[in-house]
Amino acid sequence: MNPISETVRVEVTGIVQGVGFRPFVYNLAIQLSLTGWVRNTSAGVEMELNGDRQNISQFLERLTNQLPPLARIDTIHTETIPSNGSVTFEILSSQPQPGQFLPISPDVAICLDCQQELFDPQNRRFHYPFINCTNCGPRYTIIRDIPYDRPNTTMAGFDLCPDCLSEYQDPRDRRFHAQPVACPVCGPYLTFVVNGEPIATHEEALQTARQWLRQGKILAIKGLGGYHLACDATNPPVVAELRRRKKRSDKPFALMCFDQQRLKKHAVCSREEWKLLTSPACPIVLMSRDKKSPVAREAAPNQNTLGIMLPYTPLHLLLLEPEPDYPEILVMTSGNLSDEPIAYRDEDALERLSPLADGFLIHNRPIHMRVDDSVVRIFQSKPFPIRRSRGYAPDPIPLPVHIPSVLAVGAELKNVFCLTRDRYAFLSHHIGDMENYETFSSFEEGISHLKHLFRIHPERIACDLHPDYLATKYAIQQSRETNLPLIKIQHHHAHLASCLADNHWNSKEPVIGLSLDGTGMGTDGAIWGGEILLGSYRNFQRLFHLKYAPLAGGDISIRKPARMALAHLWASGLDWEPDLPPVQALCYEERLALRSSLEHQLNTIPTSSMGRLFDAAAALIGLRFESNYEGQAAIELEAVADLEENKSYAIEINHQEIDPAMLWNAIIRDWREGVAVPILAARFHNSIAHFLLECCNTIYRDHSIKTVALSGGVWQNQYLLEKTKSQLEQNGFRVLIHHQVPANDGGIALGQAVIAGSVELSVQL
Ligand code: ZN
Ligand code: ZN
Ligand code: FE
Repeated sequence: MNPISETVRVEVTGIVQGVGFRPFVYNLAIQLSLTGWVRNTSAGVEMELNGDRQNISQFLERLTNQLPPLARIDTIHTETIPSNGSVTFEILSSQPQPGQFLPISPDVAICLDCQQELFDPQNRRFHYPFINCTNCGPRYTIIRDIPYDRPNTTMAGFDLCPDCLSEYQDPRDRRFHAQPVACPVCGPYLTFVVNGEPIATHEEALQTARQWLRQGKILAIKGLGGYHLACDATNPPVVAELRRRKKRSDKPFALMCFDQQRLKKHAVCSREEWKLLTSPACPIVLMSRDKKSPVAREAAPNQNTLGIMLPYTPLHLLLLEPEPDYPEILVMTSGNLSDEPIAYRDEDALERLSPLADGFLIHNRPIHMRVDDSVVRIFQSKPFPIRRSRGYAPDPIPLPVHIPSVLAVGAELKNVFCLTRDRYAFLSHHIGDMENYETFSSFEEGISHLKHLFRIHPERIACDLHPDYLATKYAIQQSRETNLPLIKIQHHHAHLASCLADNHWNSKEPVIGLSLDGTGMGTDGAIWGGEILLGSYRNFQRLFHLKYAPLAGGDISIRKPARMALAHLWASGLDWEPDLPPVQALCYEERLALRSSLEHQLNTIPTSSMGRLFDAAAALIGLRFESNYEGQAAIELEAVADLEENKSYAIEINHQEIDPAMLWNAIIRDWREGVAVPILAARFHNSIAHFLLECCNTIYRDHSIKTVALSGGVWQNQYLLEKTKSQLEQNGFRVLIHHQVPANDGGIALGQAVIAGSVELSVQL
């Protein structure tokens, strides 16, 4: 029987560039004796195939079933066309298509094949810190434009040597069309810099850096998306010195160690955690600290967790390669002073980081996009993101509903913005706290870069209600300049919608939202944060909230939980008895001034913040009176809580208000009776979980709603999350939590975008 031959044209979208997709297509076509061609477009990949009909259908089947590890197909369109007469199969050069877009791969941790070559003395890339291939290496951080070809990356300035060129051109090679391909002959190299002067290059630079780390020095090291500050994590004076130089008092440092064997000495690592650590994204994973770990306490003060990542670039592997008497685990914290953004441009880094670092290990491959490390936790065997950045951004999140294109600018802290088009939400990398000019300009640059890369022309702009957020001001100005409708969105409604979108919720039915965080502007001008909402993408109702307590003096009360404890006692009509820890923590003058501002409502704002309730509790039981970073009191309260304790305190719910007065009374009584801090901390957590359940039960009785979405930074508290979720589930509720974007403000732009895209504009205009 004669084979029936035909010709088909195939268009594929998804993550199909920079992931070895065309070589995969090429090899598949050769194996099946098909002729034709394949090429990248700015919408994806297109190809034409000539050959036996059965082979073509086998090709199409294997195309979707045997994808390279990093590729993902979103759509595939096939049509039969007249024969193109080609006699070979070729990879054609890229074809830009105006207006179209395609997803861009995030940066990918070094693959096992490359690791093997890196440590193989026979390999021509032995110990070469920039080894990569089609399956691994830098992507988003080096891409200037699409299509993803070498001239559009920061590798454009490096001409390929004959060896690299032949690998790059050979479809059977695992570096075929690997855009960042390089070797010691033609690629980037290391330089070690002290006091602005290069003192060593190449392997010698690496060995000098290792020598310095061994001697207890602090180094600035240029990585994938920016600079790290590194030192021996088991050397307490050095870690303390880094803390002093960085002006960062208690916030934990990220750590990096070579492999599983070494990791196990420091953290209790589950199978899921290990899987996450070794995934292509290679994030920092928060794990329980092993009590015997020699990591300096100064690396993560008052914490029972450690944030550890594995080496994700060849340079990291070379820096951590084990040797006797060499540090086994390094601090790898972002290269910045306190709240500034991470440094990524060489001149800027050399200037800003020189007071912080003894020496610099740098290289000459430019970073185009500044991208911080991601932080993820495992909760009930699934990822629970804390910061979604390197390795994840700019991978889009599929939208559950059809909406017009939106720019959502996010919130003030942990800013991440979001651009949508078609069925995709492109969340930016972590921008940071929008408190200074550098962060704001990287926010602006980030927006124009992503708009350009993904060819997005927003039709609406979404922002927070808070008029003072820099992101809000930017949105207002943009909307004026472009005449695009601006939609202002209540912070806790955005949290709720973010959790719904994260769970691909596509129903118009409202759900219960437990939006719990530190700060968000309410529709009444108060600072909200302990909110029990009933809402959908379109709208929301506030059903319950924590009773307002006065926040006196704004920021100072956020930094001083002791003041918050006294304000809460005052609001509950309880005396500031002299033996109480927060009373003792503040001097007479400060208490006097505080009382007068509370009584005369001077410079006070009412707040229903759950974050401040945790602060007050931590101070009331004598655990923490001052906070050196956001959420510190709550994090430490969780860290001490006794997991075995099941008792809780009663809390009164008056109409819409959850009144903590009885809670404070009970805590003080227990404290006076000498109940230990871990028990008090546990009972406090249990009480919150308990009243949340009570509120949900009431809402179920009134509205027959059985779905609850948990969002807001408070849910990073695993103790509370675990308790609340299990109690709700035992009572028949379906509980939605975050898995793709953070529960904190780093995920809020997704909620803003979906709300802005869903509301009827006539109402807004
Ligand atoms: Zn590789
Ligand atoms: Zn080369
Ligand atoms: Fe928030």
